[in-house]
Amino acid sequence: MYRELIALPSVSCLDPSWDTSNKAIIEKLASWLDLLGFQVDVRELKQPGKYNLLARYEPELAQQGGLLLAGHTDTVPWDEGRWTHDPFKLHEADGRLYGLGSADMKGFFAFVLEALRGIELKQLTKPLYILATADEETTMAGARELHAFPEFRPEFAVIGEPTSMTPVTSHKGHLTEAVRIIGQSGHSSNPAAGVNAIEVMHDVITELRGIQSEFKQRYHDATFEVPYPTLNFGAIHGGDAANRICACCELHLDMRPLPGMNVNELYDLIDHRLADVKARYPNAISLIHMHEPIPGYRCRHDAEIVSIAEELTGNTAEPANYCTEAPFVQDLGCETIVMGPGNIAQAHQPDEFILVSEIAPAQQQIEQLIRRVCGAQ
Ligand SMILES: [Zn+2]
Repeated sequence: MYRELIALPSVSCLDPSWDTSNKAIIEKLASWLDLLGFQVDVRELKQPGKYNLLARYEPELAQQGGLLLAGHTDTVPWDEGRWTHDPFKLHEADGRLYGLGSADMKGFFAFVLEALRGIELKQLTKPLYILATADEETTMAGARELHAFPEFRPEFAVIGEPTSMTPVTSHKGHLTEAVRIIGQSGHSSNPAAGVNAIEVMHDVITELRGIQSEFKQRYHDATFEVPYPTLNFGAIHGGDAANRICACCELHLDMRPLPGMNVNELYDLIDHRLADVKARYPNAISLIHMHEPIPGYRCRHDAEIVSIAEELTGNTAEPANYCTEAPFVQDLGCETIVMGPGNIAQAHQPDEFILVSEIAPAQQQIEQLIRRVCGAQ
C-alpha cells in the first residue's frame, strides 16, 4: 500500500505547471477503505480536480464521539536533479525508505490501514473516521471544506504529520501579505514632480517595524521558542531605472500570530499603523492577502487525547514551528493533536525518507490508539 501511494503523483503547488490532481490517490484509498467496511464519502472541492475523502465506521449504537485519523494526500514538488532515487518509487536502503511523501505524509495512510487489519471493526463501540484532504501544502483548501461532509462529531482527532510520534499540541498561525504602492513616475531631475513609491514604502516599513516591536512588548507565550507573534520582511521589488521616479514598489511579508489571536485583529493593527501614511498618499497603498490566513492552534493541555497519546508513545507533548490543518480539524469540535511517524526534518527535502525502524512501533501505537478510543478488544 505504501509503495502504491508513493507511486501516485499528487503534488500541490501554486505554480500550475507543477500542480496535480489528487484524484488517483483518493480513489485508491477509497477502494481500500471500502473493502474494510467503511462508508466512504468523496467530495470534489470548489477547486476542480481536488478531492477530500471521509471514511466512516459508525457502530449502530454510537453515532457520535470516537476517533478521527486525518492526513493530507498532497506532497510538495520535488527538486529535479537533486533526488538520487526516483521520488515515485519507494526505495529501501540503509534502513530507510525513500520516496516523495514517505514522511510527509502518504505513509501514514498505509500504516493506519495496516493497523486496521489487526482490528475487528465489528467490535468497535465508538465511531472511527479516516479523513484524507487535498492541498494542505498550499492553500489548505481541503481542510477549509470539511463542513461539506454531513455532520460528524468525533471526540478526538489525530493528524498524522511526521512528528516522530511526539504529540504536538500547538503552533502559530500564518499570514502572507503584500503591500503594494502605486506612485507616479516622472523624470529624476525633479524628484518632487511625481510620487516615489520607494519613498512611500520607506514610511510603510517604518510603521511595520513598529508592529514588530509592539508584538514583542505586548505578547508573551512561553510555549514557543520565539514567544511572541512575528512579522518578517521577505521580499521587496520596485522601480526599473535610476533616472526615473519609482512608480511601483511591492513588499511581501509573513506574519505568525499566536494561538488564540484573531486574524482580523492583525489586519486592524496594520490598518491602524498605516493610517497616517495612507492619508499622506491617498489611494497609493494597498494590502493584498496572498492566501487565506491560517489561524494559530492550541489543544488544551489537560485534554484527554494528550494524556492518551503521551502514555501510548512515552513522548511528552510539544509545540511545532510549522503550520498544520489542526485549527480547521479542531473546528469540528474535537480535541485535536498532531502526531505521526517520520521526522519533519526530512519533509520537503530531496531524498525524503522514513526510518524503517520507526514503522512497526508507530503502527502498533496507532493500533493501540484506535483500540483505546474506539473500544475494540
Ligand atoms: Zn504534511
